[in-house]
Amino acid sequence: MQSKTTDAQIKRMADLLRQGAALTDLACPACGSPLFRLKDGTLWCGKDEKKVILIKEGEEETKVTTNATMDKLEATLMTKMQDLQAKIEKTDNVEEIEKLTAALSEVLNSLEKVKRMKKS
Ligand SMILES: [Zn+2]
Repeated sequence: MQSKTTDAQIKRMADLLRQGAALTDLACPACGSPLFRLKDGTLWCGKDEKKVILIKEGEEETKVTTNATMDKLEATLMTKMQDLQAKIEKTDNVEEIEKLTAALSEVLNSLEKVKRMKKS
């Protein structure tokens, strides 16, 4: 395991998803992390916290890195899903439940994408 993703980085990525950013099937050329597409269309690396401009896509090398990253991401998303589930179970606050289920739905969407990408 190299360049372990820290809790802070995972949290930032989760925040991006909550803010409406979409997980893409592209990997950051610098660190191999999956890239997010922000609402304005900008590609964003949640790990480096910077804008990424991709010139070429779909190269074999990128794909290998992506698969390793996807495994890691899938495990992270599963953990987040369990966290959210536990929080939903504990709260009676309707607003909070709405927020949590929205987040859960984003996590599920991302998880679905990760699974699809791993298959392709
Ligand atoms: Zn990066």
